[in-house]
Amino acid sequence: MTLPLSSTFPLENLRPETRAFLARRARGHGLLIDGAWQAAAGGATFPTLDPASGLETGQIARADAADVDAAVDAATRALAAWKAVVPVERARILWKVADLIEAHIDELAEIETLDQGKPLSLGRWAEIPGAIGQFRFFAGQAMAIEGSTLESSINYQPQGRQMRTWTVREPVGVVAAIVPWNSPLVLTAMKLAPALAAGCTLVLKPAEDTSLSALRLAELMVEAGVPAGVLNVVTGYGRETGAALAGHPKVDKIAFTGSTATGRAVLDAAKSNFKRVTLELGGKSPAIIMPDADLSITIPGAANAIFMNAGQVCIAGSRLYVHRSIHDEVVEGIAAYARGIRLGHGLAAETQMGPVVSRIHAERVEGFLERARSEGATMLTGGERGGEAGTFIAPTVVVDVRPDMEIVREEVFGPVLVAQAFDEPEEVIAAANDSEYGLAASVWTESLSHAHRMSSDIKAGTVWINCHSMFDASLAIGGIKQSGWGRDSGRQALDNYLEWKTVCAVV
Ligand code: NAD
Repeated sequence: MTLPLSSTFPLENLRPETRAFLARRARGHGLLIDGAWQAAAGGATFPTLDPASGLETGQIARADAADVDAAVDAATRALAAWKAVVPVERARILWKVADLIEAHIDELAEIETLDQGKPLSLGRWAEIPGAIGQFRFFAGQAMAIEGSTLESSINYQPQGRQMRTWTVREPVGVVAAIVPWNSPLVLTAMKLAPALAAGCTLVLKPAEDTSLSALRLAELMVEAGVPAGVLNVVTGYGRETGAALAGHPKVDKIAFTGSTATGRAVLDAAKSNFKRVTLELGGKSPAIIMPDADLSITIPGAANAIFMNAGQVCIAGSRLYVHRSIHDEVVEGIAAYARGIRLGHGLAAETQMGPVVSRIHAERVEGFLERARSEGATMLTGGERGGEAGTFIAPTVVVDVRPDMEIVREEVFGPVLVAQAFDEPEEVIAAANDSEYGLAASVWTESLSHAHRMSSDIKAGTVWINCHSMFDASLAIGGIKQSGWGRDSGRQALDNYLEWKTVCAVV
């Protein structure tokens, strides 16, 4: 198996600006409420760790219900003034946020790696540019909000006067943005950018394992001119801070990304005052390799579809279906690719895969692998922890599985690929759709006919052909079935943060 190159990284080798940020914000002074940085009212904090080494990198403020109350109140007070800011000014601020992220991209990439574990290159060249794209895209959308005029048939013309009818879009109000730990910065940007473009105010709750990049982003947003109270940040545990926010009576909408189980809890909490809810939840996405696929792009493409970010990607291609005629060649090819992946501390330049986010999560992934073994599955490669410290899981390819096994059906959220053979297109479409999730899928084929037929028949929010995990600010992302409600990113995301108002006027 692949052993980590190194699970530690001397913190004194961090950039000076990263160390300055940690000194500023990772000592329990990380709540942003009404434009002021402050400690939790009760003074509580919790540790944040570097997952590769297990070493503590800071103490994060642990917000309780009183802090959440103060943050929601600030967002409520700021709403009218932010709504009144003309679209071009909202756009200017969002564009400035993008410029500041770009100017600080190396620092942000370091912070994200230190907190989440991902290789520096993934943040630096893919995810943080993705966050920049969100702010630039929604800067444009801020100036493209439109209602319509309607030729209604209302036959009411008192004293010969006329009826006019039109619609306008208005911000939903105060938004609670609750995000997970796998790709913190870009997933946060996917909530903040469209909400601010629409004229909403926000309270952001980052994941407890990865609060740091949200705090640095918030600093940059204040610098960009986001007014006091328009963006508030409360850090803390999901069951405490998150639950207080999701159930708060003055929150108008919850924009949630996370697990399907937590999504259900959030939905329950939203019932109290009928909050608007969008839910970006889990997935178990199929990657389907047809017999005519170009294996020179398919084998590395399908391997990256699962091993990128140590498999902690909601849209990861975690279920591999390969036509029987090329099954062994493809699966062996992916296993060889997996064996060649260099594990290590994300801040080391040669690292291709970092640890999973926490010890608890590593144990969860191991639990899936143990149960798969006991049900008769074989690990073609991987299947074990790597290294002494940290939370490294070797890239794993699982074979000898049946469709009803847990490892085939449940989201593992780790570097674990489950491979199965198929014979007929109809059979693989049925297998791909035999899931409670419907987030994404990829089809690898040179046949136009297969590409069209399968992209139409597969039940998922996104289907990629000869690629996987491609995303862009212009493209909506989200799922059907238990993968959630609504879409983030793309023009569709703006709608999440806007209400319709109809006006009928006798003039
Ligand atoms: P999680 O559901 O445990 O936590 C997500 C967020 O919810 C965290 O900030 C957490 O503190 C908070 N939370 C927890 N309990 C809460 C409660 N009772 N009330 C309010 N908030 C609460 O998810 P995770 O483990 O951080 O993230 C991994 C999951 O996210 C995976 O299932 C993955 O598929 C999913 N995900 C989905 C998408 C998508 O676009 N569909 C994108 C990324 C991740």
